[in-house]
Amino acid sequence: MADRLPLFIGGKFIDSESNETLAVTNPATQETLTELPFATQAEIDRAVASAKDTFSTWRETPTPERARLMLRYQDLLKQHQNDIARTLSQETGKTFADAQGDVWRGIEVVEHACNIASLMMGETVENVAGRIDSYSYTQPIGVCAGITPFNFPAMIPLWMFPLAIACGNTFVLKPSEQDPMTPNRLTELFVEAGAPEGVLQVIHGGKDQVNALLTHPDIRAISFVGSVPVAQHVYRTGTQHLKRVQAMAGAKNHMVVMPDANKDQVINNLVGSSCGAAGQRCMAISVAVFVGEAAGWIPEVREAMAAVSPGPWDDEQSAYGPQITPEAKERILGFIAAGKKEGADCLLDGSDCTVEGYPDGNWVGPTLFSNVSTDMSIYQEEIFGPVLLCAETPDLDSAIGLINDNPYGNGTSIFTSSGGAARKFQHEIDVGQVGINIPIPVPLPFFSFTGWRQSFFGDQHAYGKQAVKFYTETKTVTARWFDDVAPAGPNMTIKLS
Ligand code: NAD
Repeated sequence: MADRLPLFIGGKFIDSESNETLAVTNPATQETLTELPFATQAEIDRAVASAKDTFSTWRETPTPERARLMLRYQDLLKQHQNDIARTLSQETGKTFADAQGDVWRGIEVVEHACNIASLMMGETVENVAGRIDSYSYTQPIGVCAGITPFNFPAMIPLWMFPLAIACGNTFVLKPSEQDPMTPNRLTELFVEAGAPEGVLQVIHGGKDQVNALLTHPDIRAISFVGSVPVAQHVYRTGTQHLKRVQAMAGAKNHMVVMPDANKDQVINNLVGSSCGAAGQRCMAISVAVFVGEAAGWIPEVREAMAAVSPGPWDDEQSAYGPQITPEAKERILGFIAAGKKEGADCLLDGSDCTVEGYPDGNWVGPTLFSNVSTDMSIYQEEIFGPVLLCAETPDLDSAIGLINDNPYGNGTSIFTSSGGAARKFQHEIDVGQVGINIPIPVPLPFFSFTGWRQSFFGDQHAYGKQAVKFYTETKTVTARWFDDVAPAGPNMTIKLS
């Protein structure tokens, strides 16, 4: 493994000139895996300049050629899915199965990008006036940049650069500094697939590198995924610098449990969706809303949660892995302590979690609170750990009211056997991604990732048709061809005739 992670600029992996570095560690052991350099301003400028130069040729590359690059790329990603997942597991601590899923959900977006010609088709109307036709083309916008979070180091970069590049843009990626080895591996495979020099650049770093991208005059669009405060900063700064911005942010996802739901399904799905990936998913369920007598199932949820435990990525018995950093673990323990202090009942406390053979891992055990009220910090903040809160409401209307009053709108779900309750929920809930008897309703790439309210800032969402709109501009042509003698005198009106 490299001692220091390279940047990727102008088609070459290069050693950064920066002296500022960060150790990338295995969160189960704290072992240093590699050193991450913080790219210098000159390197960022070179990366953007390379993308800008390449745009003039890449945008002229025939659309089917661009699609063929994606065809080769998705094939290579599939061939290497397991070795990417191994790297991903080491730097995130995710279980191997979960890491394979992270890679797979990214591959699906690349598969979708293979269809780019159909996705970029414009519209036509014949005879908008006498012998005049109108038609539109979809054209790429230029240099786009992507800034990604730690929790899906394969899937989220793959939400961004393949579609942007398939549209004819060039791209600068700034991956999370916590797990940058996976994005570098994705880049190596993109090169192997035949990506021309300068189409993709990867610069490493943290907030200074993000700010350099947000203010760079040659970047047209920014895709961001991360926490709410940073998403707000990215949206404000990027738009202030006249860029197109889509910023996917944090969440507090509720699952409504109706008394007519299948109890075993509810319990299994609550445990998996709250503790899976150590609760480090933006679509994790963090609040279970028990309606009426469904609250009687809480002791069984506790029992099922107590039966799962974290562990190392390569042990099949591990239900999930460690938190990404010691700081992330401390933050979660702070919330657990605050929840107890604020008066919630801690039915299961994962604060003192240990894993044999891994004394230095960032472990947090499954944690369950009941009697949670909406003014508590554990309810108001995204905890991003294996912590599930239980709320109780007398009926579906009050469950919907509770969720709609929460500022976040990323995902939600309802477990019920009533079509009427499900229909009412899907219609009235003020959340952008809804699951019916599905706890984590992440849409496939032919739809878009449609978080709402404080979970998203922008207009066009990630992947799917909306991302194609985000990465392109529409040009509308109105055309008339003469085959007769010009009429006498100039036409001074704007009316088409
Ligand atoms: P983060 O906000 O700390 O970091 C995200 C990116 O922003 C990283 O590349 C980081 O280097 C950069 N960054 C961090 N602080 C910055 C600052 N002050 N100024 C400029 N840039 C900064 O997020 P994270 O901890 O890596 O990821 C977890 C968060 O991402 C959670 O809140 C989660 O809900 C959210 N998330 C949202 C989605 C979604 O689609 N809505 C998907 C995945 C993760």
